[in-house]
This record gives sequence, C-alpha cells and structure tokens, in this order.
Amino acid sequence: MVSVIIMTMLFAAGCQDKTPAASKVEAEETEVIVLGGGGAGLAAAVAAAENGSKVILLEKMSMLGGNTARAGGYYNAVDPQRQGALGIEDSVEHHYQQTIEGGDNEGHPVLVKILTDNALDSLKWLESYGMEFQDRIVAIQGGMWERSHIPATSSGFGYIDTLTKAAEEKGVRILLDTKAEELITDDNGWVVGVTATGEDNKTLEFRASKAVVVATGGFAASVEMRTKYDPRLTANFPSTNNPGATGDGVVMAEKVGAGTAGMEYIQLLPLADPKSGSSQHKVVTEIQSTIMVNKEGKRFVNEDNRRDVLAGAIMDQTDGICFIINDAREAGEVNNYGEKVADLVEQGYVYRADTLEELAELSGIDPAALVQTVNKFNKDVAAESDSFGRKVWGNTIEVGPFYATPRAPAIHHTMGGVTINHKAQVLKTDGSVIPGLYAAGEVVGGIHGTNRLGGNALADIMVFGRIAGENAAAE
Ligand code: ADP
Repeated sequence: MVSVIIMTMLFAAGCQDKTPAASKVEAEETEVIVLGGGGAGLAAAVAAAENGSKVILLEKMSMLGGNTARAGGYYNAVDPQRQGALGIEDSVEHHYQQTIEGGDNEGHPVLVKILTDNALDSLKWLESYGMEFQDRIVAIQGGMWERSHIPATSSGFGYIDTLTKAAEEKGVRILLDTKAEELITDDNGWVVGVTATGEDNKTLEFRASKAVVVATGGFAASVEMRTKYDPRLTANFPSTNNPGATGDGVVMAEKVGAGTAGMEYIQLLPLADPKSGSSQHKVVTEIQSTIMVNKEGKRFVNEDNRRDVLAGAIMDQTDGICFIINDAREAGEVNNYGEKVADLVEQGYVYRADTLEELAELSGIDPAALVQTVNKFNKDVAAESDSFGRKVWGNTIEVGPFYATPRAPAIHHTMGGVTINHKAQVLKTDGSVIPGLYAAGEVVGGIHGTNRLGGNALADIMVFGRIAGENAAAE
C-alpha cells in the first residue's frame, strides 16, 4: 500500500507537465504510443524505448499498475538453474503441453510456443532492471506444476515498480488520468494516433509516427461486457479486478477492424476471499503442502487441477465455499502480498488453532471429518498418490498451529480479446494485419484457449509486451 501511495504521489507530480488547456486540440507527436500502464504496457514502453523510440504511455487511472499490481506475482518459466537446484524435473515442452492442454487445445499453438520459449528470457530481462526473485520455485493454485517464480518483494507491484523505474530512466513520458478514447487512422487504414480525455475532461490528441500499442488489460470489470458472455457474472459476483479493466482496448481496436477470439472464456480465480473477492488475505498460495476441504471436512478435488475445474468443484460444495488447510511449516509471518498472517487472523480472514479439532470448530468445519481427512492426506503424502490423482506433493499437515482460510471463486481473467500474430500486430477478422497497431497483455484473446494456467499471465504480458514494444519501435 505504501508503494501505491508513493507511486500515486510521484506520478501526480509528473502529470503537471500536461499540455495546458487550449480551445483547439494540438496533437502531441511521438514515435510510439502505449495505451495502458499495467505490466504489458510498461514492458512494451520500456522495450520500445530500449530500441531507440520516443514513447508516450497513457494510463487512465491515477496510478500505474492495473491488474498486474494486484497479482500474486507468480511467474511461470522453465528455469533449469533454479528448478534443477531443487530437483524439479521440467522442460519447455512440458510447459507448452500443459498450457495447451490446460486450455482444452483451443489456445494458439504459435503464440503459446513463443510464450513458453521466451518466459525465462523475459524473467532475466526483469532481473536486468533490478527485479529480484526468490530461489524457491513452487506450484500455485491452477498452475499445475512447480515452475512458478516468486518476486523477492511486493507480489505484483514488484513488476510495476521495476518497469516504472526502467521507463523513467529511458525517458518514457507517462501521463496518468489520461484515458485513450479512439484510435486515429489515416486514409490507408494505418493507425497513426489516438484521442484521449485528460484531467478536467480535456480533449487530447497524440500522434505516433511509428505505431500504437494497445495494452489496456481485460474487461472483467465491465458488468455489461462480462454478462454478455457469461450471464452468471452479475454486478454482485466477487471479482479480483481493478475498476479500470473495462475492455476499452477491445472496443477501440474493434472500431478499426480488429478481430477477437475467446471472448466467452472468463476465468474465475477459484480461491479468492469469499466476501471481498480479493486474491489476498490468505496464508499461502502454493499448493504443495495444502489441501482444500469443504464444510463437511472432506477433500473434493485434486488441488493441483486447473482453475476452471477447481472453481466449478468449489461452487458445487455447501455454500459454494471451501477452506485451504495448512500447518505451521507453510505459514510464514508475512504472506506473498506483504500481509502479516497474525493480522489476518485478528481481522477474521483466517482461522488458526493449535489442534485440527479446534480449527474445525472455529471455522465451522466438521471436526471429526477434518481430522480423518488430514490423517488420510498425510498417508497419501508418503505414498505420493491419492484417489483424486494429485501429482504435486510436499509436506504433510501435522505441525501446529494449523490454519484454515475460507475461499470461494471470484471473476479473475478474461481470456478473450483482440487477435494478434507472432509479432503482436493486431489482426483484422480476415487475419490480415492492421498496420501501425500492436497489442499485448490481457487485452489479447485466443492465446490460452478456454482456461489459463495460474502463473502464465505474468509471463505472457512480459513476453508479448516486449515483442510489441520492439516491433513497434522497428516500424
Ligand atoms: P495487463 O496485465 O495486460 O498489463 P493490466 O490490467 O495490468 O493489464 O493493465 C492495464 C492498464 O490499462 C490498467 O492500468 C488500466 O487502468 C489501463 N487502461 C484501461 N483502459 C484504458 C484506457 N482507455 N486508456 C488508458 N489506460 C487504460
């Protein structure tokens, strides 16, 4: 939170150099314009600037970050050095296969290959700008394998902090409170700029001599757009999303002829806070040494399953909720979002007790069944096999105090969006390129298919953000 405030202040100060009010709109000229200041937009802006371009980035909110800042920060990449040191077997081919199969073979083979081939290189690129990752590699909920990297600090904000500094060093001009409205095309259909609304509702215009990169994120915060594709996702459905994720980029790009893919696939995060929908307020995100139980104290699914399967299974349980159970060895003092576990217990987000029976009483779970379930799980850990077909194993659950975190699904990620090619150029419905227009991040559709693996979004936005920025700069 502190870094949110600092960033807001920093950029509020940076915004004062905006074009003064004028009766006639004077277009500001640059080479590359990036729309959206989440992870994908910042990566694109830095990559374009690295390649020698003059860049302006427009962000409609008063701070950078988007959904990226809210993310847990887990980044999937096959990393022989870190995984090898821990004895984890993996390969880029395995990452590719799991990503394709996890999306029911409806993902884009070429784009998934680019994503899985380049994930580690983009992680190293972030490290080259000072971002630090832990040596630990974990399997996260819906990630299906132990290949998720964890930022050393600040979950999703670590990416935004790192890239914001890099963008500033490279002279990217960042305008906050500036909402892109319409793409401008020339007589030949080239995208040459964008109109925007700035502070005090001022109309602005920006011209790009090279290209525009759309990185405005998903549409999960637009009730109108999301219910069009999934009528269950009404205004009251909990959501992990920031209010800026309203699909603006899809609407803008469609107006200049962009095609879309996968709009009907809206991912629920299976394990969000039941009240707020936040992905925060939990003890652990890793699955190796945890189980999910229902109110009856029983496991009901393999915890290393896909997000859509997990979400569906939880919604079928009593009251549509479950509890993540872990022991003292998995609970640090602070969780991955920087929240103190003791505070979470005090605030009622998490239950903690010295015995499993007490834990069950506190959380409203059947006590005898919970003890039985945990005993059975501990035997399964020794055998690394259970009746659910779980493949990811870690510690037993036997060292008190024990923790129970109530969780329920929340709207998370829109897999649909504009179609792109291997260069991140936006494609028309007939598959031809819209000249001068690139896209990266959650605004892009069709990469992952029906379901995205947990931990693949950050790799996706960094890999394709860089590709979009590099190619935009090369126009
Ligand atoms: P990604 O993960 O693809 O980078 P994020 O949600 O992290 O997506 O970031 C997208 C950013 O784009 C958010 O900060 C959001 O406020 C911003 N944004 C959305 N619509 C517009 C718009 N019309 N103009 C400028 N910025 C926008």
